[in-house]
Amino acid sequence: MTTESTNIKVGDLEFPPRKVWMKTYGCQMNYHDTERILSHLSGMNFTHTEEKSEADLVIFNTCAVRDLANQKFYSHLGETKKLKENADVDPETGLKRNVIVAAGGCIAQTEGKDLIAKYKQLDFAFGTDVVDNIGEMVYRAYSGDKKFSVTSWDRSENYSIETKITQGTPMAFVNIIKGCDKFCSYCIVPFTRGREKSRRLAEVVKDVSRLVEHSGIQEVMLLGQNVNSYGKDNGESLGQLIMELERLPGLVRLRYTTSHPYDVTDDLVEAHANSKKLANHLHLPVQSGSNTVLQRMLREYTVEHYLTLLAKMRKANPEMIISSDIIAGFPNETEEEHQATLKLLDDAQFDFIYSYAFSPRKGTKAAKMNDALNDDIRGRRLREIQDRQLKIQEKIRQGMIGKTYRILVEEKGLNKGVTKWTGRTSCYRLVHFEPETPESDYQWHWMDVEITSATALSTQGKIIRDLGKKIL
Ligand code: SF4
Repeated sequence: MTTESTNIKVGDLEFPPRKVWMKTYGCQMNYHDTERILSHLSGMNFTHTEEKSEADLVIFNTCAVRDLANQKFYSHLGETKKLKENADVDPETGLKRNVIVAAGGCIAQTEGKDLIAKYKQLDFAFGTDVVDNIGEMVYRAYSGDKKFSVTSWDRSENYSIETKITQGTPMAFVNIIKGCDKFCSYCIVPFTRGREKSRRLAEVVKDVSRLVEHSGIQEVMLLGQNVNSYGKDNGESLGQLIMELERLPGLVRLRYTTSHPYDVTDDLVEAHANSKKLANHLHLPVQSGSNTVLQRMLREYTVEHYLTLLAKMRKANPEMIISSDIIAGFPNETEEEHQATLKLLDDAQFDFIYSYAFSPRKGTKAAKMNDALNDDIRGRRLREIQDRQLKIQEKIRQGMIGKTYRILVEEKGLNKGVTKWTGRTSCYRLVHFEPETPESDYQWHWMDVEITSATALSTQGKIIRDLGKKIL
């Protein structure tokens, strides 16, 4: 790659400065992939823009898991037809700006060819395992190659990458395992992300050490669809990795997501007891409080196993906060099974949950089940779950009042006309607080804040100590 004036030469093509707009749907894995894509594209003279209308390259990073994200993508993709038609005219050439539209992510992995055939304005589609080849695909598109789809799987034995970051924040997502071998009956992920493959422990430690030393990273989120299955293929484990990362000077906080209850091992529980850097938070999706529903979901654990795990975790770290995911109205869920989920909420005392009414994902076992439930029943059950959880959550959050928490401040915003800054505790709760002066800038500062009031959904605090941007 060579540079000449502001252009960059890639192969036979000149790449002038161009703008890329990206829309990301779904989970943190997708956000992480987006960051990788933007990082690769910056090497091809692309800068990121928030304004779709000025973009030369429009990329959608899609999600097949959530129905809403799915619908939004199709509607946003439809709008790009106008975007191409209305592109401005280059005063030098008199030609319309050539806007390239691409779709990646989970929908593109399974439906890439169909999308290309159906949407005239879509230039190329690419799957989840070829994100790091975005440069080649963009090159092809600018060489005049149109309407192609790349959805192949990486067949190499090792999963080896280097984390790419673009945002200039002290927080980084670090992918440590990709894919999922679980095949829960409702989930499309094993079909869109492939089989589990872990990076080697030594490579991850080197990668994180580089991020801490050279990019100012202080908080790391270890990512994987089934993150606590990490290392099984190499005789390594997530617990081991956490204890190795614990030793890195300059790294302040470590998180990991998303976990499957079946794969929580004793050494992971021990890591929660022994690590000072590991966050006091575990997101452990339970999905249902009924053993019969869990069987139909193919989740491989029972409610009793799950509750025992929570007890172990809380014993290992009494500060531990647990959150979860719940699906309301799985096919043919009986009233009794639903009541078992409400009871589980009482027993588990989650700090927060993400809850959804079941909606079928094409190609999964659950989508083929004859289902006696309707949307009204699902809606009612979802409301009951959310109402019950909010009451539990409010009580738990009241217990925070008067206590001091260390937060990493992320951003400021306006709340009913009042400027407030927002940061996250080790236990992943958001805390809002007022600045000392309107000009105070706390972004990416570590602060100690005392909680002054709390509701089920919001926690307010006051500044106790501003520790600045770096702590040891
Ligand atoms: S563990 Fe189950 S729900 Fe999670 S990604 Fe794998 S198949 Fe999907």
